[in-house]
Amino acid sequence: MPPKSAAKTRRPRRSKKPGVAIPDAIRLLTDEYGPFENEPRLDPAHELTFTILSQHTSDRNSERAFRSLMHRFGDLYAVANADVDDIEQAIASGGLAKIKAPRIKTVLNRILELNDGSLDLSFLGEMPMNDARTWLRQLPGIGPKSAGIILSFSLGMPAMAVDTHIYRVSQRLGFIGPKVNADKAHEILEAAMPPEDVYPFHAALITHGRQVCKAQRPLCGACVVSYGCPSRDEKAIRQAASDDASDNISADTDRPDGQAPGRRRRRGTTATPVPHTQVVKELQP
Ligand code: SF4
Repeated sequence: MPPKSAAKTRRPRRSKKPGVAIPDAIRLLTDEYGPFENEPRLDPAHELTFTILSQHTSDRNSERAFRSLMHRFGDLYAVANADVDDIEQAIASGGLAKIKAPRIKTVLNRILELNDGSLDLSFLGEMPMNDARTWLRQLPGIGPKSAGIILSFSLGMPAMAVDTHIYRVSQRLGFIGPKVNADKAHEILEAAMPPEDVYPFHAALITHGRQVCKAQRPLCGACVVSYGCPSRDEKAIRQAASDDASDNISADTDRPDGQAPGRRRRRGTTATPVPHTQVVKELQP
């Protein structure tokens, strides 16, 4: 009898069903890592600039580059008028300066064109969230994650901003399917919870991803939602990890709360999911 072909014996890949509900995950993770305080915010144009600087580098590097940029030029109008070479020099410590310098100049000048010569984007806070998102998405290089960061962190709106940690943990817990891309994940996750849960979800999952549900070696034995996790102890996690480990250089190496990688924070102390708290404080009068 001929052997069965691999195609006939292979089982279809099924979506993981979440064994823990999103509200329960938020509660348990907040009990573990929270409380999550509202952090001081940058205004939208500064937040947008910081967001570009934070792409594909560590929190520490992006803070350093942002500080250097503001020190060199004083304000964002001067950055918009500056030579790209000078911007590149100012942000060199953040990495990928050759790409980020023209991107920053282009986006600031596009805002000036669209907004009567002003970089004040506070009017977005008066708009319905989806209209504000559409306005931001017309800017060059602003995708759903960057728009979500600006809407959520700068304007206090309930917009989802899915970074590499939130994406990975959401997939492992089955909140999004294995084939959902990061862009689509924003829509799915935002629709899956009431507005008031969006920020707690963001803070809880990003902290969990940094501290326990790590890309390379998730610490399932120390996980407070492991009882309902369909990925628990899967060998596949390690394989998948090699795919997304390179996605975010800062994943486990540069922690904004200053702890060493892999070390768990004590319960009851305040986690810092927003990476630029110190910079914001410095900018405040
Ligand atoms: S059980 Fe493991 S894979 Fe699942 S959420 Fe917890 S740490 Fe991540």
